[in-house]
Amino acid sequence: MSDKRSGSLDAAKVIRPGSTIGVLGGGQLGRMLALSGRAMGYRFVTLDPTPDAPCGQVADRQITAAYHDVEAARALAEESDVITYEFENVDADVTELLMAESYVPQGSRLLYTTQHRLREKRAIEAAGVKVAPYAEISSASELRDAVIRFGTPCVLKTATGGYDGKGQWVIRSLDEVEEAYETLSRAKTELVLEQFIHFEKELSVIAARSPRGEVKAFPAAENIHVNNILHLSIVPARTSEHIQQEAERLAVQIAESMGVIGLIAVELFLTREGELFVNELAPRPHNSGHYTMEACKTSQFEQHVRAICNLPLGSTELLTPVVMGNVLGQHVEPLLDWIVQPESEQQAGGETAKVHLYGKHEAKHNRKMGHVNVLAASVDEALQWIEASNIWR
Ligand code: AMP
Repeated sequence: MSDKRSGSLDAAKVIRPGSTIGVLGGGQLGRMLALSGRAMGYRFVTLDPTPDAPCGQVADRQITAAYHDVEAARALAEESDVITYEFENVDADVTELLMAESYVPQGSRLLYTTQHRLREKRAIEAAGVKVAPYAEISSASELRDAVIRFGTPCVLKTATGGYDGKGQWVIRSLDEVEEAYETLSRAKTELVLEQFIHFEKELSVIAARSPRGEVKAFPAAENIHVNNILHLSIVPARTSEHIQQEAERLAVQIAESMGVIGLIAVELFLTREGELFVNELAPRPHNSGHYTMEACKTSQFEQHVRAICNLPLGSTELLTPVVMGNVLGQHVEPLLDWIVQPESEQQAGGETAKVHLYGKHEAKHNRKMGHVNVLAASVDEALQWIEASNIWR
C-alpha cells in the first residue's frame, strides 16, 4: 500500500468524465476550474460559506457552510468521486475526514507542507532548490541576532496565514526589531526571518504532476506586483531562455521531489547575477497562471483536472505572447466602460483582449474581481495595450 498522505495514492485510478469533482472553496480559482472541467464532462460540487460564490454559480451544486464545518465536509465527500481544494489553508480535521471518506489524490502532506513557511522551505531545500537564507525566530532577542547576521533590510514573516504581503514586516533598521516582533507574534504562529533578496524580477512557474508520474511545466511568467498584489504576468518572461528553462526545471524538480499531484505554483526571485531563489509555493491553480487560459494549448485549470483525474497531461506549449492584467475592485468601472466600446476602438492594433470576470457581488478596493489576457504579437505590444486601455489608470 502506498502512503495515503503522500498523494501518490493509486497510480491506476482514473476518474472519468461524468464523475463529480468536489472543490473545497468557491472562489475564482474554483470557478475557472469548474468551467474548464465542465467542458470536459465532469460535474462539480463546491463548499463555500458565501451563498452564490463564484464557483457555486457555475457548479452543479454549492454546499453553503464554513470551511471547517465537518458535517458539510462529510456531505461534500459523499457527493464527490474526487476532491480538490482552491486554497491551501484547509483545516486539518477537514482534510482528515475528506481523506477517510472520499478520494483526495493530492493527499494531506502537500497541504501540511505548504501551509507553513518553515516546512515549505525545508521541502524546497530537500528538493535541491535554493530559498533565501532564513532563520526561525521565537523571541525578540533571537530576531535581533538574526537581523544583525542578515543585515538590513530583511523580512519578518508569519509562518502561517499570510498572503498578498499580509503577515510581513520589512525590517529596515535594528530600531524596528521590538515592534516588528510584537506585531507579528500576535498572529500566534512561528515567525521566520528572511534575508532580503535584491531581485531583478519575480518569476513563477506552474507545474503539474499526475498519479502516473507524468510532469509538465508551463512557461515561466514574469510577475509585477503593485502594493503586494499581482498586477501583471508577462509571458514569455523578459529574461534569457536559459533562465526561463532553469526556472521551469526547478519547478519540475520540486514537483517530483515532493510527490505533488495536481498543480504546484512556484514563485521565484531572479537576481541580477542570474540566481534563482524560490520564495513560496501554492499547491493549486495560481493567479500568475491565468495567462494559460487563452495563451497555452492547455490551461492550468484543465491541467489540474487532468492531473487529479489521472488523465494524460495536456501540452503546455505557449501559442502567443501574452500579458495578464488583474482587475481589482477599482478597475471594474473603467473595464466596463472599455468593454462597451466598438470593437475597432478596443483592439486598435492586432491585439486581442480576453476578459474574465468572477461574478463577485461587491467590487471592493483591491479585491480580485477578474482579469484580462492580452494576446499580441509581442509582450511589448501587449504592455502598450494595457497602458493605452486606461483600465489600470
Ligand atoms: P510573499 O507573501 O512571501 O509572497 O511576499 C510578498 C512579496 O514581498 C513578494 O512578492 C516580494 O515582492 C516581497 N518579498 C517577500 N520576501 C522577500 C525577500 N526575502 N526579499 C525581497 N522581497 C521579498
